[in-house]
Amino acid sequence: MDLSRFSTDPYWWDGAPPEEARDALPARADVVIVGSGYAGLSAAAELARNGTDVIVVDAEGLGAGASTRSGGMVSSGQKMVMTGAVRGKARGRIAELLADSVASFEHIENLIAREGLDAGYQKCGRFFAAYVPKHFDRLREQGELLETITGVTVHVVPRSEQRRITATDFYHGGIVVDDYGGLHPGLYARSLRDLARRCGARLFSHAPVKRVTRDNDGFSVETGRGIIRAKEVVVATNGYTGKATPNLRRRIIPVYSYQIATEPLPPELMDAINPGRRMISDSQRELYYTRPSPDGTRILFGSRPSFLEMDERAAARNLARRLQEVWPQLAPFRITHSWRGKVAMTFDKVAHMGRDEGVHYAIGCNGNGVALMTYLGHQTALKLLGKTNRSCAFDTPDFPTEPYYTGRPWFLPIVSAWYHLRDGIERKLS
Ligand SMILES: Cc1cc2nc3c(=O)[nH]c(=O)nc-3n(C[C@H](O)[C@H](O)[C@H](O)COP(=O)(O)OP(=O)(O)OC[C@H]3O[C@@H](n4cnc5c(N)ncnc54)[C@H](O)[C@@H]3O)c2cc1C
Repeated sequence: MDLSRFSTDPYWWDGAPPEEARDALPARADVVIVGSGYAGLSAAAELARNGTDVIVVDAEGLGAGASTRSGGMVSSGQKMVMTGAVRGKARGRIAELLADSVASFEHIENLIAREGLDAGYQKCGRFFAAYVPKHFDRLREQGELLETITGVTVHVVPRSEQRRITATDFYHGGIVVDDYGGLHPGLYARSLRDLARRCGARLFSHAPVKRVTRDNDGFSVETGRGIIRAKEVVVATNGYTGKATPNLRRRIIPVYSYQIATEPLPPELMDAINPGRRMISDSQRELYYTRPSPDGTRILFGSRPSFLEMDERAAARNLARRLQEVWPQLAPFRITHSWRGKVAMTFDKVAHMGRDEGVHYAIGCNGNGVALMTYLGHQTALKLLGKTNRSCAFDTPDFPTEPYYTGRPWFLPIVSAWYHLRDGIERKLS
């Protein structure tokens, strides 16, 4: 593929870049929200709608975090099953987590429809492809678990029928889950900002929070642009969680995730590669995924949070090579964008909302946050407003860390090499 020139900004920023909002910061607010991604904005909209004086501050431009860098795949919790996040947990706990995950999918669909958000949303389904033959049976079992617990519709696709879904023999069949969507992450972030403002929230960029101090009367939020007094603070910093909240930082493993976009492709090629315009991903440990751009002209291709840190150029080379392994027919085309963003993994592989030293938080998406972080932001707002009649399954007091871990994931290269090796061996032996 032609990698001679590409932008290192997300493809999504062509249509909806992050926004500057450098007005002077107010001296006080009822609630200060740290982070202007889906979680922070969604919390802000709900709080402001209910009459709370809310300020959102971001260290960078508004929406410059993972929310405008993502693949825009909208899940109802399937990924928690497919990535093994629920493995080893009791059946009842799995059911609770999946119930709230399904609720997150319903929440985002309702939100977009009710508020008329211009997010490029389409319900399109997702094909989970088997990387090696034995993964086909595992996917089928995971599909059955999903159908039983969440009631989603799953179709099994044997390899002999795979070309109905996509023009490749690289995979060994898989399953299609119908309850899956795709949106334009940049447009969605922008429409959430508009919604939050319509509800009465005030948003400020380039105001990095350096410290949050609690006293008898609330909180002092010290930013690079001044101090704000607040009755409550919500931290929604996910993979960008830093020194301002050391207890949370110890619980998050920040990992880069990478993506590339092709130039516009001939319509007949798009029709062959993805006739159903679905989201597609595979079952490798180093998960790879693809989707069409919302206008159906380009292929976007990404890899799961890579544990090995790369710059955008190295990532483009790596991803383009993988893309051509699966669809060699893409070899003559150009890569126009290669970008990365940080996601937050957690030691128990699930997201968390809760309270630490009085500060509310919603973080730890594990690479699966378009619907979920929108939902956890909303749930955090409901909790602050005293409007919940049950606690969310992601709201538990136990948010694990490991001894001596302070937020610098020194072990990632080792994990990465191990995943890479095991994927390679499995493919060779299959
Ligand atoms: C390449 C990539 C692909 C992805 N693909 C998908 C996908 O297809 N589907 C899916 O469901 N999820 C996907 N994700 C994950 C998803 O994007 C995230 O889960 C979600 O956007 C997180 O939203 P958030 O609001 O929690 O955090 P973010 O959007 O990351 O926002 C956090 C914000 O906090 C700000 N911040 C941090 N520290 C401070 C501070 N001290 N002071 C002020 N501000 C601060 C940051 O600047 C940032 O803007 C992907 C992520 C990446 C990077």
